[in-house]
Amino acid sequence: MGLQQERAAGIAAVRAAAMVCRNVQQHWVHPDTLEKKDRSPVTVADYASQAVVCAQLAAATAQIPVVGEEDARELRQEAEVLEKVVAQVTTVREGASSAEVLAWIDLGGSAASGRFWTLDPIDGTKGFLRKEQYAIALGLIEDGQVQLGVLGCPQLAGPDGDGVLFVAERGQGTVSQSLFGADTTETTCSVSAVADLAQARFCESVESGHSDQSASAQIARKLGIANEPVRLDSQVKYGALARGDAEIYLRLPTRADYREKIWDHAAGAIVMEEAGGRVTDVRGLPLDFGRGRQLEENRGVIASNGRYHDQILAVVQQVLGT
Ligand code: AMP
Ligand code: MG
Repeated sequence: MGLQQERAAGIAAVRAAAMVCRNVQQHWVHPDTLEKKDRSPVTVADYASQAVVCAQLAAATAQIPVVGEEDARELRQEAEVLEKVVAQVTTVREGASSAEVLAWIDLGGSAASGRFWTLDPIDGTKGFLRKEQYAIALGLIEDGQVQLGVLGCPQLAGPDGDGVLFVAERGQGTVSQSLFGADTTETTCSVSAVADLAQARFCESVESGHSDQSASAQIARKLGIANEPVRLDSQVKYGALARGDAEIYLRLPTRADYREKIWDHAAGAIVMEEAGGRVTDVRGLPLDFGRGRQLEENRGVIASNGRYHDQILAVVQQVLGT
């Protein structure tokens, strides 16, 4: 049985949320937002994005619970923020009330077991605030495996301007299409065929707190990679690899006790795999989405076009001493 209904619902939900996020980033994020350490635009967009996605999914796939990054507990205590969130939600869902918005956000509070959606309403909040890359990431998980991924990348350049949507279904490949445009023609994605490590390009987080950048530099040197790292926020990295913009993504633990969150990888990992790539953790284990809200059994992430994955793993383990 295919996932037509889930796929259509996921695409509609991510598109609607992306419009809200783009609107907030364009109008509320200013050069001094970061300087002032003002996180309010991303807070509002985060809640509004989760409300919009959950509302759409509740209408189309009501039987599938959602595990979202956010919940409305704190928002209930902050009338001013709530008012702004509701104003954003009404741009795509006319007439939504604050009670409805709170209830939609809380639909994302389900348990991570069986068959469920997992949502990161804004992945890459730091990128969002820098007016750089971020993503709206939605994955459908069944018995520990991602079956469907919908990854909206509002700031990624596509053939008709900014905004690319990646959609991947297990066994069906990965496609990309315009995120905001009316023309929804799909393009098949495939990973880069570059087979020479000396020419490979590698991606990593912009934030040094999310991935060990000095270890990655060492690994790149040992592998003979000549190019400087391409630093991008969010799961846009997986999208970039899936369409062949780079060959390798290194996410190296900065702390022994950090566990990756399922919503930070579900959509991206299937987008990458269905485009022909390989995704493992630093020890070479497949990502196990069947352990609750975190990837409890995994450490870090290594993704590649598959041409030299084992070679990368060997050097990663040598440098990290794992
Ligand atoms: P990125 O934009 O790729 O750097 O990843 C953003 C994500 O990193 C956020 O959604 C966080 O959930 C996650 N994150 C937060 N702290 C850490 C950490 N110490 N190690 C790895 N990821 C983290
Ligand atoms: Mg995230």
